[in-house]
Amino acid sequence: MDKIRLKDKDFELFIPQKDIQAAIARVAEEIKRDIEGKNPLLVGILNGAFMFIADLMHHLNGPYELTFARYSSYRGDHSTGRIQEIMPIRQSVEGRHIILLEDIIDTGGTMHHVIDRLRQQGAADVRLATLLFKPDALEHDLRPDYVGLTIPNDFIVGYGLDYDELGRAYNDIYKIITTPTPMLNIIIFGPPGSGKGTQSKWIAREFSLAHISTGDVLRQQIQNNTDLGRAAAQYIDRGQLVPDALIIDILAHAIDSMEHPRGIIFDGFPRTLPQAEALGDLLAQRGTRLAAMLNLEVDTPELVRRLLERGRLEGRSDDNLETIHSRLDVYNAQTAPLIDYYRRQGILHPIAGAGNIENIFQQIKQTLLTCQTS
Ligand code: AMP
Repeated sequence: MDKIRLKDKDFELFIPQKDIQAAIARVAEEIKRDIEGKNPLLVGILNGAFMFIADLMHHLNGPYELTFARYSSYRGDHSTGRIQEIMPIRQSVEGRHIILLEDIIDTGGTMHHVIDRLRQQGAADVRLATLLFKPDALEHDLRPDYVGLTIPNDFIVGYGLDYDELGRAYNDIYKIITTPTPMLNIIIFGPPGSGKGTQSKWIAREFSLAHISTGDVLRQQIQNNTDLGRAAAQYIDRGQLVPDALIIDILAHAIDSMEHPRGIIFDGFPRTLPQAEALGDLLAQRGTRLAAMLNLEVDTPELVRRLLERGRLEGRSDDNLETIHSRLDVYNAQTAPLIDYYRRQGILHPIAGAGNIENIFQQIKQTLLTCQTS
């Protein structure tokens, strides 16, 4: 069986029976060597370790004294776990060589506590044997003396280990199949001056998304006086669009320079139909897609007022009356048709973009929360 389902969760084969058995045989050899001539007390920790204990005993095959104990760890609001003894060790541990037999060590909280207690009670020494060890999950100062297999920090079941008491009776060990949460990729759309940049920053912060502004990338290139910057400046200063091939290339580079973002906000891109098609392809090639296109709706007199004000405050070379009008014309002719394109794809969300920045952001936030869960 390669896959199993327990209640609402799917698991895939992780450690087959023969690997488990080989690991146990090895652990048994090591233990046998160490306990030669001693009179150890083996303590099986229930419930999860019952299979491991039984198979280990097959290999030890000797006169060893075996007992069982059971603990449960509480994890309330506090960061330190509270350990409850459900079934304590019955015999005296004073002067004994104890070997604890555990199925898995992850945070290590329970065993850390138990080992401390046994030492206080006068055990000659306390060793810990575990079938599985998750060093990445370890929160306590604890080093198992015998380890069957070291594994990454995934949720596993089988061979004694359970999910809500299910799955203990498999001979193999299975690991949970987690589906990664889909990326939240958004286009923030609207004419020049509609507030795309401002809203992008707020969205990026709220949803932990990466932000790509093609306008910002181009301005950076101009500032650094690169070939690309010099080529782009002629278009930008006339209020025209930079050629598609150039801007698509910039965008592909920007996407690939990011390390596993939870999503990307595209600000100022796409501005033409070929750019929109290229964006769809770029995302599909990377196994993802657009979740939403937010269209900030603001009327023209308000746009002109905002852009002139920004020109005064930030000194952007393209925020002057003449260039503003050509940018609005270019927007209406080449960019606005994308509204229909995305409406047909079913991801268009109109946002009333006039008024208070905070109110506009709240509309966007509500829209994105529904996109995220659908
Ligand atoms: P923005 O900061 O988004 O308003 O962009 C400023 C200028 O950069 C635009 O007027 C264009 O000249 C150029 N630009 C930015 N993004 C693009 C794009 N996706 N396609 C073509 N040109 C762009």
